Amino acid sequence: MKYALVTGGSRGIGRAVCLKLADMGYHILINYKSNDLEANETLRLVKEKNVSGQLMKFDVSNKAQVDSLLGGWIENNKEDTVEVLVNNAGVREDALLMWMTEEQWKNVMGSSLDAFYYVTRLLVMGMLANRYGRIVNVVSLSGIKGMPGQANYSAAKAGVIGATKALAQEVARRGVTVNAVAPGFISTDMTQDLNEAELKKLIPMQRFGQPKEVADAIGFLASPEASYITASVLSINGGLYS
Ligand code: NAP
Repeated sequence: MKYALVTGGSRGIGRAVCLKLADMGYHILINYKSNDLEANETLRLVKEKNVSGQLMKFDVSNKAQVDSLLGGWIENNKEDTVEVLVNNAGVREDALLMWMTEEQWKNVMGSSLDAFYYVTRLLVMGMLANRYGRIVNVVSLSGIKGMPGQANYSAAKAGVIGATKALAQEVARRGVTVNAVAPGFISTDMTQDLNEAELKKLIPMQRFGQPKEVADAIGFLASPEASYITASVLSINGGLYS
C-alpha cells in the first residue's frame, strides 16, 4: 500500500492536504497532537474518498514520541511504503524578541525545525530504498521575509527552508524531491486572532487564502509530474511578497 503522512493533519491546511492526497489515491496517515475531535473528522472525510486513513497521535517536537509512534509503525509495516511526507505541523507564539520567553522560542522551534529532523530522518531511508519519494515542507512568508514579533517563527521556518535545500541535494539522485511551500495569510485557526479586514488591504489579491489553495499546490509538488522540481520554495500569498 502507498501511504502519505501529513503532520498536523487534524485541522486547517493539514486537513486540506490530507483530502488532496486522498484524491490522488494515497492512504493517509494523519498526525496530530491533541485535538481528537478534529482529527476524527479529517479521518471521516478521508475515508469518504475511498482510501484508508489512520490517526497517528504524537507530538512532532518530541523525539521519543516520534521514534516510538512513527518508528513503530514503520517497523510493523515493512511491506508498505510512505511515498509522500508533508511536514505541516506548526504553531505560532508571537512576542517581541525582548519579551520572548525561552518556552515560546523552544515551542516554535520544536514544532517546525526539530520536527522536520525527527520525522523526516525516519522516512527518507525508505524513500531512498524505493528510489521514489516526495517531501513537502510547509514554511511561511515569515521565514523568507522575517516578520516583527515572530523571531522564533521566522527563524524556525527559515531553518526549514535551509534544511529543504540541503536535503534536496542529498537525495536528488535517487528520485526523491524535497520542496517547501511558503503560505502568506491563510484562513485557519492559526490566523483567527488576526485583523483580517486590515491585513487583507496589504495583499494584492485583497483576501486571505484558503487551505485548499495551499493543498492544491502541495498536491502538485507531491505528484509524479513534479519530477524535475526540487530544492524550491513556492510562495502562496496572493502576491504579498516574493
Ligand atoms: P492550525 O489550523 O493551527 O493547525 C495546526 C495543526 O498542527 C493541527 O493539526 C495541530 O494538531 C498540529 N500541531 C501543532 N503542533 C503540533 C505538534 N507539536 N505535534 C503534532 N501536531 C501538531 O494551523 P494551519 O494554519 O493549518 O498551519 C499549518 C502549517 O502552515 C503550519 O506549519 C503553519 O506554520 C503554516 N502556515 C500557516 C499560515 C496561515 O496563515 N494559516 C501561513 C503560513 C504558514 P491539533 O489539532 O492536535 O492541535
